[in-house]
Amino acid sequence: MWSSPISHEHLEAASPTPLRLIPLGGLGEFGLNAMVLEWEDHVLLLDAGLLFPNAELPGVESIVPDFRYLAERRDNLRGILLTHGHEDHIGALAFALQAAPAPVYGSPLTLGFVRKRLRERGRSADLRVLEPGTPVQAGPFRVHAIRVAHSVLDSFALAIETPAGVVLASGDFKIGASGPPLERTDTEALSAWGDRGVLVLLSDSTNVECPGKTADEDDVLPAFEAVLARTPGRVLVSCFATSIPRIQRVADLAREAGRFVAFVGRRMVDNAEVAMDLGLLRLPLSSLTLADRIADSVAPNRLLAFVSGSQGEPLSALSLVSQGEHRDLAVGPGDTVVLSARAIPGNERTVSRLISNLYRQGADVVHPGTARVHVSGHGSQEDLLELLRLTRPRYLVPVHGEYRMLAQHARLAARHGFPGDRVVVAEDGDALSFGPLGARKEARVAAGRILLDRSGQGGIEDVVVRDRRQLSSDGVVVPVILLDKRTGSLESVPEIVSRGFMDARPGAELLAEARSLVAEAVDGRPAEERLDHELTKERVRRELRRFLKKRAQRRPMVVPVVMEV
Ligand SMILES: [Zn+2]
Ligand SMILES: [Zn+2]
Repeated sequence: MWSSPISHEHLEAASPTPLRLIPLGGLGEFGLNAMVLEWEDHVLLLDAGLLFPNAELPGVESIVPDFRYLAERRDNLRGILLTHGHEDHIGALAFALQAAPAPVYGSPLTLGFVRKRLRERGRSADLRVLEPGTPVQAGPFRVHAIRVAHSVLDSFALAIETPAGVVLASGDFKIGASGPPLERTDTEALSAWGDRGVLVLLSDSTNVECPGKTADEDDVLPAFEAVLARTPGRVLVSCFATSIPRIQRVADLAREAGRFVAFVGRRMVDNAEVAMDLGLLRLPLSSLTLADRIADSVAPNRLLAFVSGSQGEPLSALSLVSQGEHRDLAVGPGDTVVLSARAIPGNERTVSRLISNLYRQGADVVHPGTARVHVSGHGSQEDLLELLRLTRPRYLVPVHGEYRMLAQHARLAARHGFPGDRVVVAEDGDALSFGPLGARKEARVAAGRILLDRSGQGGIEDVVVRDRRQLSSDGVVVPVILLDKRTGSLESVPEIVSRGFMDARPGAELLAEARSLVAEAVDGRPAEERLDHELTKERVRRELRRFLKKRAQRRPMVVPVVMEV
């Protein structure tokens, strides 16, 4: 069953130069998808995604892959290929282009989303449409798009012909066999590539822990019908702003139920516009209503609004609604809010708080834990096995997931008879080589993450984030040391100020003790340190840290201030 059409003889006939694959992100986490494909000195980049941070990274707005490896090959990059329009695949494109400018290939909808994002950053790029049936040539590579089913329309798997063999990247996919044509994976095209011979299959591992097959979008219809039937007031639906197939279905139901449809929140409005322009979202103008007139012009029982912010993002429209602070929209008794998305791992607490706040406003909340208002866009075990059977690759490289998913994907394949020595479980920065001598891992390359703050400019140093984390757990302690300008000796007993450190009384008693400790440390300096403030600060920091750790089991940030009089 797994006899790949690529025999040993085939490989000898192919290029003696091996093909190299280097994941810069996405193998070991959900997000940051970015895979470098390299043959001789020609380079392609597959996807350029970001990662949304969680509460453990205070003040960090987004995370992008470290594109140093690409920057070092900036003259050799032949193209950037985008599989689909999700942020974890396109969100770091501006940074990839900064590292190495190149033509960007993607489906019309993907490029529509990309154009908006780039414009926000004041950038432009050479965007080229990629469509099934019309392959494009990028350097020595020939790229074919294959339609796949996923939660955003116009998603592709890519078959990339290289002189060393065919690489097939699944992108994010499920099989979706019973969906309408645009929402179905083109299994015939996949199996045709299987017949021709696939050297390496890169396959989505997100839902490898789910048995069976992933359901189609139509599965959400009954739950939404029930919500519309029983809600006397407004219905708010929050899903990813890219989930066009779901938005279409829910909007159709709303219209049948005599409700106007509104889009609230910048992302929601932007993406709906892009999809409507391309004819991928079809809503009659008569059923649309403008966001800034909702409160006055539409009776609650005539409204269904799609609202950004299903992950509880602090400044999103839904988050403002949940706190009664949105300009155009409010909820109360009789209204229902549907969270039609799964909480991204790490966001569970934020989403839970959002739900509580919506209940405080008096609204009813329906979410994937209480009704079938969401289906995944990623394939379960049966979908993954079907892709493997269709494409019969020589090698399988599980991608898109935490290490545990990649490892389980390898085991799933092995359990179904795929030869274990032809599965390569790799992590970010591993350089994989596929050639006549087989597959092997070469020396690792530079790969990592760049943390961005709200401005999206420059990287936040890891140390900044570490400091913020330390501040959030144990607070800050500031000893203020007054020294004689000429002699460097202590002028008075040091003051110690603290914030977020300990409860008032035990904290004050401890810090009173610490004052004499700091005084001793300053007095006890050797002569050569007396006029060196940096050494003085370092000594105080060290002593005070040791003391607070021993006496209070705390590790606040200690920031000594030295002043001269
Ligand atoms: Zn996706
Ligand atoms: Zn993805």
